[in-house]
Amino acid sequence: MAAFIPSPLMLYVHIPYCVHKCHYCDFNSHEREKPDWPAYQRALIGELEHWVSSPMFKARPLASIFIGGGTPSLAPPALIASVIEHAEKLSGFEKNIEITLEANPGTVDAGNFSAYRQAGVNRLSMGVQSLNNDELLWLERIHGAQEVFEAFQAARSAGFSNINLDLIYGLPEQSMQSWLESLNRAIELAPEHLSCYQLTVEPHTMLAARHRKKPYALPDDELALEMLFTTRKRLQQAGYDAYEISNFARKNRYSRHNDGYWLYHDYIGIGAGASGKWDETDKLGISRYSNIRNPEKYIESAVQQSSAINSQETLNRDKSAAETVWLGLRRTGGINRKNFRNRFGFDAMEHFSDQLLPWQQQDMISVSKSCIQLTESGLPMADEIAVSVL
Ligand code: SF4
Repeated sequence: MAAFIPSPLMLYVHIPYCVHKCHYCDFNSHEREKPDWPAYQRALIGELEHWVSSPMFKARPLASIFIGGGTPSLAPPALIASVIEHAEKLSGFEKNIEITLEANPGTVDAGNFSAYRQAGVNRLSMGVQSLNNDELLWLERIHGAQEVFEAFQAARSAGFSNINLDLIYGLPEQSMQSWLESLNRAIELAPEHLSCYQLTVEPHTMLAARHRKKPYALPDDELALEMLFTTRKRLQQAGYDAYEISNFARKNRYSRHNDGYWLYHDYIGIGAGASGKWDETDKLGISRYSNIRNPEKYIESAVQQSSAINSQETLNRDKSAAETVWLGLRRTGGINRKNFRNRFGFDAMEHFSDQLLPWQQQDMISVSKSCIQLTESGLPMADEIAVSVL
C-alpha cells in the first residue's frame, strides 16, 4: 500500500446566533438579543489554539475556512478578523486559501462586507432561499427579495467576486413555474455558485410540529423529481457545472471547503455545536468530535478548558471506507478508485460488491477502471444507495 498522505486540512467556525429561528431550520442556531461577542471570540480563539497544537493537526496549513451558522453576518468584523488572523498565525495558510462567510441578506451592512473582505474573507455564501416574497414569508425569513438584490450588489461593491446563493425548492404548494422564477432571478444576478436543496421536514423543528398538526401540501415525489432535474438542466444551460447533487458552479468556482467534506478530508471545527474529524493514520479509520451545542455552555467550557467537546467517536477502517463511498457518490466526479485504494488498502468496488453490484446492474451507478459514479437515473436514489453501503 502507498504511504499515507494526509488530506488538506480545513477549519469550520460556527456562529450560532440568529435574529429569528426559521421554522424549518435544524441547524444549531439560537435567537439571542445580545450575544456576548467578546466571550464568544475568546472561546473560539482558545479552542483554535488547542486544536492546532494537537498532534493530528499540527504543522498542517489550512486549505479552507468556512464561517457558518447561525448567522455569521451578525458577528462583529473584528471577531471574524481575529479568528482569521489567529488561524493564519497558528496554522499557516495554503496558497489560494478559500475563506467563506455565510451572510443573511436581512442582516447586511455594506460597511461590514468591506470589513469582512479586508479581514481575508474571499467568498460569501448568501442564504437567499427564494426570491418570491410570499415564499420568503412562509419560510419566516427576515428579508424580502429586494434585500437580496441589495445585499448582492453591496457584496459586489465590497469586492466579492466569488458568491454563492442558497435556494430551497419543494415548498408547500410551490409550482414549477414559481420555483423557476426564483431560480431565473437568481441566475440573472450571475453568482459564481448556487446550492439548491429540496425542503425537508426535519424532526424536532417547529415545521415538523406544525406539519404533524396540519399537514402542508408538499410536492409529491414526481414533482420533486421533476424540480431536481429541471434545476440541473436550467443551471447547466446557464453555464454552471453540476459538480454535486445539489451544488452548481462556474469552472474553478467549486466550493473547495464543501468538496473537502465530500472527499472526506480532515477538518477542525470550533464554535457551539461544531464538529471536527481526522484520519487515524495507524488504524486507517477516523476519529471525530462534536461540541456542546448550547452557546452559553459552550462559551463556559471553551473559555475555561480551551475545549468544549460533547461527544467523540472513532470509526474503524470499514466504517470509514463506507462513509467515503457515501460522500464520494454525491460528487459528479464520483469516487477515485486509486485514491480510495491508497487510503484504505482495498478496492471500493471489490470490498462493497454485495451492496454496489445491484445498483450497477440497475444502471444507478457506473463503474469504470478509475472511478465509481452515480448515473443520471441514480441521482434520485442517492440516499438509498448511501444507506445500502453504510
Ligand atoms: S437564518 Fe439560517 S441558521 Fe438562522 S434560523 Fe434561519 S435557516 Fe436557521
